[in-house]
Amino acid sequence: MTGNADRPRVAISACLMGEEVRYNGGHKRHRWVTDVLGEFVDLRPLCPEFEIGMGVPREPIRLVNHDGAVHAETQDGENDYTAPLAALADDYRTEAARWDGIILMQGSPSCGLFRVKLYNERGFPTDSTAGIFAGRLRKQTPLLPMEEAGRLNDSHLRENFLTRVFMQQRWRQADPGQSAAALVDFHSRSKYLIMAHSYPTYQALGKLLSDLSNKDIRKVASDYQHQVAEALARPASRGQVANALQHLQGYVRDRVSSDHRQSLRAVIDKYQDGLVPMIVPLTLLQHHIDTAWEEDSYVRRQFFLTPYPEALGLRNQI
Ligand code: SF4
Repeated sequence: MTGNADRPRVAISACLMGEEVRYNGGHKRHRWVTDVLGEFVDLRPLCPEFEIGMGVPREPIRLVNHDGAVHAETQDGENDYTAPLAALADDYRTEAARWDGIILMQGSPSCGLFRVKLYNERGFPTDSTAGIFAGRLRKQTPLLPMEEAGRLNDSHLRENFLTRVFMQQRWRQADPGQSAAALVDFHSRSKYLIMAHSYPTYQALGKLLSDLSNKDIRKVASDYQHQVAEALARPASRGQVANALQHLQGYVRDRVSSDHRQSLRAVIDKYQDGLVPMIVPLTLLQHHIDTAWEEDSYVRRQFFLTPYPEALGLRNQI
């Protein structure tokens, strides 16, 4: 990875990048990630099984439940790779603090994040769990946005993941825990994005930051970051987004004609009813906001208006 301070850093299972590191010498290139997302983020490939020295090609492994303990082992049970895969995740902990997200290969006993087959000792799949590396990394870095490549084919999950990735990058770059002013500024820009995901969190964070005198700002910032991460992890519903749009509409209410006000309200209603995608009311609202307000105004600085590069086209599909 060359690295560019202005772009999010996203780690990724190397086989998704087209690297021939799978057990059979193949790959699982994900075209959207490599060809589209790769234009906007720095992708950092990693392959846990290769990195612990399993080689390519190699005997495939699977997850087996031994008295409640999950092991990653070869089908004949002769070789157990659980400990080195878990240790590798621990080794990545420091580097992962500088990532803004990770995209993992679904179904893998190492990289899978959800529903990886778990076999019983007689060789039958009876349950599912996370892969050893991914599960351990998730425990070590609970705030890191993590997603499986297969789930990124769902436009809502894709949009939600990228929202979290770009917010994580903003947080890492701004370091809002450095001062009360920095934290308040970050929150003032995040308000409508948080509102669109969780109104209760929006209210709770307003209270959390209402009086920061004599408070440990690093501690408050950590609490704040946890609550934001939790809220953003839940994809926003049409109703929640429409509510945020209506609040933002209030900033142009006195600055546009009654005809424009009515057409904006009608378009937000259409979006809420599922008749048009989010980009439609947003483009109209953005136009009115840009016309009515200075570039550095409170409303134009809202992350909600441009949570990620527009060219990703994510809001055309939700
Ligand atoms: S799923 Fe993970 S361990 Fe398997 S080949 Fe891909 S990167 Fe390597």
